[in-house]
Amino acid sequence: MCYAIPGKVVAIDDKVVTVEYFDEKKKARNDFYADLAVGEYIYAQGGFVVQRIAEEEAANILKTWQELFTKLKEVDLRLTREPKGLYQVANATRQRSLGNSCCIHGIIEFSNYCRSNCLYCGIRKDNVNLKRYRMDVDEIVEACEYAVKELKFKALVLQSGEDLWYSQEKLVDIVEKVMRKCPVLLIVSIGERDSELYKKLYASGARGALVRFETSNPKLYQKYRPGHTLDERLTLIKELREIGYLVFTGFLLGLPGQSEKDILKDIELTQSLKPEMFTFGPLIPHPDTPLKDVPVPPLEAVLNTIARARILHPDSRILVTTALETLDKEEGAQRGFLSGANSLMVNLTPKKYQSLYQIYPERAGTELDTKQKIEKVLQLLTTIGRAPTDLGM
Ligand code: SAH
Ligand code: SF4
Repeated sequence: MCYAIPGKVVAIDDKVVTVEYFDEKKKARNDFYADLAVGEYIYAQGGFVVQRIAEEEAANILKTWQELFTKLKEVDLRLTREPKGLYQVANATRQRSLGNSCCIHGIIEFSNYCRSNCLYCGIRKDNVNLKRYRMDVDEIVEACEYAVKELKFKALVLQSGEDLWYSQEKLVDIVEKVMRKCPVLLIVSIGERDSELYKKLYASGARGALVRFETSNPKLYQKYRPGHTLDERLTLIKELREIGYLVFTGFLLGLPGQSEKDILKDIELTQSLKPEMFTFGPLIPHPDTPLKDVPVPPLEAVLNTIARARILHPDSRILVTTALETLDKEEGAQRGFLSGANSLMVNLTPKKYQSLYQIYPERAGTELDTKQKIEKVLQLLTTIGRAPTDLGM
């Protein structure tokens, strides 16, 4: 099993193409292949045409998928029949609105330097106990090439602290090189940088931006992200959308002082930003931060939030975060999926850096090598009947 299924282009309307996956049709945006024609095969991710694929190669891949695809759908349907509790209702809602499609993105964490001092975060500037690292331009490009060419990822998140060492020039260089060597849906997660920089990265080929607003409560925001305001953050997120980025956003669960009402507002604010992906996860305390003693939210609190978000917004794409997986390394991801989520990220950061990207400690997956992680994810998808077809636009 591979983590993307090719589809056949069956209609083109300017930049929007209709793609057929076996008996299903999905729409995807095509920015990069002006001469794409009906009848060609492509890979789409995040509702976005990422790569062309030769007909013969696509036919071979589809042949291996045909039988499994039908089986996966049956498993998914069986798991959503006669829903009983909140989680099952949410899972059935997901099945009805988006079928068993599921996106698998890779994430490469390229620097743990940060100029900000978020009280919850282990790589905050004032944490002097952490060994810092930066991957240089070539190292980042190489890691992306390996992820795309060897591991066959179609979407990659490039994440870091707010690290100004990466000038506009360096970041543009990275994006251009990656897009030239190995086209992929590139999603940047580099915090608050100016919108000119984001525009340049978009022009170079980046198409996604992951920026959480962290909390919809402006007072909590200012308390936990000293020196910053929620307004600035929301302005940036709106600008990113205007530039054309696919937006991935959401919030932290478990900030001290966050009420149930705040969480409902968090869900509503996420939806009002019309993101391509909801990303919300539990705050896991880091021993070298001012929030070291806050209690870890129970797994059920995260699952309840996923389920509520799914029921309130049936068409949303909801990520199972690594922080959720960390709460229960055996079953966290599976339970997230069965509560309404439909997307996952696999950490592809080179092994020597993974334990240093310590936003929070003991992150799920750091004990496994990349191939083992991928195996585990594919096994999980098989168990719960999810297929890596694009979720569409
Ligand atoms: N610097 C960038 C991207 C890296 S941080 C930014 O801040 O946007 C990515 C996310 O990690 C943050 O949005 C935050 O929600 C999350 N995070 C930080 N500390 C965390 C912790 N202790 N537990 C769980 N998530 C955390
Ligand atoms: Fe820096 Fe992001 Fe961590 Fe805040 S959450 S300290 S901006 S890495």
